[in-house]
Amino acid sequence: MRLRVLLSALTFRKREYFLENANAGNGREVIMSNMLVNTRDQLFVLFEQLGVEKLFENEKFADFSKELVLMIQSEAEKLAVHVLLPAYPEGDKEGCIFKEGKVSVPASFHEVFRKYAEGGWMCPTESPDVGGQGLPIVVTTACSEFMFAANFPFLMYPGLTHGAARLIEQFGTEEQKNKYMYNMYAGKWTGTMCLTEPGAGSDVGALKTTAKKLPDGTYSITGTKIFISCGDHDLTENIIHPVLARIEGDPSGTAGISIFLVPKYRVNDDGSIGELNDVRTGNVEHKMGIKGSATCTLNFGDEGKCIGELLGKERQGMRVMFHMMNEARLEVGMQSLGHATAAYEHAVQYAKERVQGVPVWEMKNPDAKAVPIIHHPDIRRKLLWMKAHVEGIRTLIYFIAYCMDLAKISNTEQEREKWHGLVELLIPVCKAYSSEKAQLVCSAAIDVYGGYGYCSDYPVEQYFRDCKIASIYEGTNGIQCLDLVGRKLGQRKGMDVMNLFSEINANIMKTKLDEDIKRHVAYLEEAYNALIDLTMHFAQLGKSAGFLMPILNATPYLEIFGDVVIGHFLVQAAGLANEKLNALYREKGVEDSKGKKRALVREDRDVAFYYGKIAAAKFFAVDVLSAVKAKCEAIKFGEKIPIEIADESFTY
Ligand SMILES: Cc1cc2nc3c(=O)[nH]c(=O)nc-3n(C[C@H](O)[C@H](O)[C@H](O)COP(=O)(O)OP(=O)(O)OC[C@H]3O[C@@H](n4cnc5c(N)ncnc54)[C@H](O)[C@@H]3O)c2cc1C
Repeated sequence: MRLRVLLSALTFRKREYFLENANAGNGREVIMSNMLVNTRDQLFVLFEQLGVEKLFENEKFADFSKELVLMIQSEAEKLAVHVLLPAYPEGDKEGCIFKEGKVSVPASFHEVFRKYAEGGWMCPTESPDVGGQGLPIVVTTACSEFMFAANFPFLMYPGLTHGAARLIEQFGTEEQKNKYMYNMYAGKWTGTMCLTEPGAGSDVGALKTTAKKLPDGTYSITGTKIFISCGDHDLTENIIHPVLARIEGDPSGTAGISIFLVPKYRVNDDGSIGELNDVRTGNVEHKMGIKGSATCTLNFGDEGKCIGELLGKERQGMRVMFHMMNEARLEVGMQSLGHATAAYEHAVQYAKERVQGVPVWEMKNPDAKAVPIIHHPDIRRKLLWMKAHVEGIRTLIYFIAYCMDLAKISNTEQEREKWHGLVELLIPVCKAYSSEKAQLVCSAAIDVYGGYGYCSDYPVEQYFRDCKIASIYEGTNGIQCLDLVGRKLGQRKGMDVMNLFSEINANIMKTKLDEDIKRHVAYLEEAYNALIDLTMHFAQLGKSAGFLMPILNATPYLEIFGDVVIGHFLVQAAGLANEKLNALYREKGVEDSKGKKRALVREDRDVAFYYGKIAAAKFFAVDVLSAVKAKCEAIKFGEKIPIEIADESFTY
């Protein structure tokens, strides 16, 4: 019953688009090559690698089944491809317009927003009591991958709304929920996240926005926030801003920060829209990417008439905001995955079609025929590098989402803490590693396209531009790396990192028994041992005057950490794929013939898929994991040159 909206609202799409019941054995309707996401890999990660159907045994998710998930996934794909995707290049060309104090979004976004909200996608993981569908987070994550890949700038409007409404659900009074939350979850109003100020970017504690308590218990808000995503627009009649501010007289720094709900228009007691709340848009940024998302300067209380309501308790603003952070940072990971997967899928298609140059083994033959560029070793290498990273990042993100679900259904506090601890530990890795690698994937996609990739007639240049912001907002990647090294490694006395390391170790022990991949598992084992060694080294330095070394090397450390985690997921997938592949060979009676096995890769989509999983893991092991030990040794060498070099020596 609860899924009625999600499934039925999407039947408006034309059936002829959905060409077949493909994806061998998965019983799932797919759009032939959606050019955005490898749906077969999504199903592999969900059901073959993570085994998320275990969730459906719990009463919280008892309404769900694998079949239902396949249907929802298919609907998400259709919405993304047929509704969100066409508005993506349009949004980029049109951008957001700021005229006479008002902001308008790209025209096509209006219809997209309506269909998105009607489809029940505003809050699919929330309880039906508040208008949600009660879906597991991991299932929603997989579904929303299509949307992230199809039109990320649009998705920022509902995405931020969801985050802000969740804050109200968790910390708001009943009155605030009735006044704001339901309308936001229904897509009638939107929400934002207002932290940044001209003098307070990474250093949130330096903010200057003030709140003065009024006799009726509300607060008068004064200050300027900059770079506020979706800060103003004409998509909905009202916008609710959670704003960080300091109550007059409260201590400086983050400890003195409170959070307030500030509507663009005041809301009357009967729920109708009241007068403008003295929130004025000063500017909309002109930026290199995500042009359909309005990045605004907001001035609160220029005329002393901006009223805010305290959310939660006084001076607990940062604590409240932190609840939004994990979700927001997971979404930045999703944004990165979305751009990377779309760039990769496009690059593969292009490489199969673009004919240029002769095969390397026919270089001296003047009559040799030109071939599609996918036949050139360097292009194949690039594509495999992209594939390995995209699939590894997908698994990392789904795994974190799955841990969030497992924390929700844990029977004991100890179990809940274990899953929650893994989420906390992996969130900075998800945010920073995914966004760094996604940029490289998008850049490699442009290289595969050659000169055409640099031109706006092809979508990869937009992916590249839209992707860049992911390393900057939601806490820059530099700050994420410090968070991992300075806080997360040591949290719960190192128990969370030890839990993760034991998982990786168990996987190594299992996969190294597999004859076909054991040589590659050895690279993972070597990298894993080097990472543990470096982590212990950092722990020792943390207790001494050498604490600067982990801080100086936080960025390469996070990259190494990410490489090992991703490598472990890829190797785990390869072990599983090898089992499936051998079973398929037995089933088809070709297990004794190398030639027939090879031929089957071209004929059978499942064989090709599993073969690809193994190839990605082997390549990642040789190309990436093989370098980890040397990188760890270099860090341990203890070079302090970046600290020692004088400011004056950076340039002449
Ligand atoms: C398109 C866009 C959308 C945005 N959306 C929002 C939004 O919706 N809401 C919102 O509140 N903000 C938003 N922001 C702001 C964004 O979160 C900030 O830009 C970001 O936090 C960095 O702050 P800053 O730009 O002031 O850079 P700075 O803080 O000045 O940082 C500059 C550089 O110095 C480094 N640095 C700073 N301090 C340290 C330190 N202690 N140690 C090591 N390195 C350090 C940083 O990592 C960075 O590399 C958005 C920004 C953009 C561009």
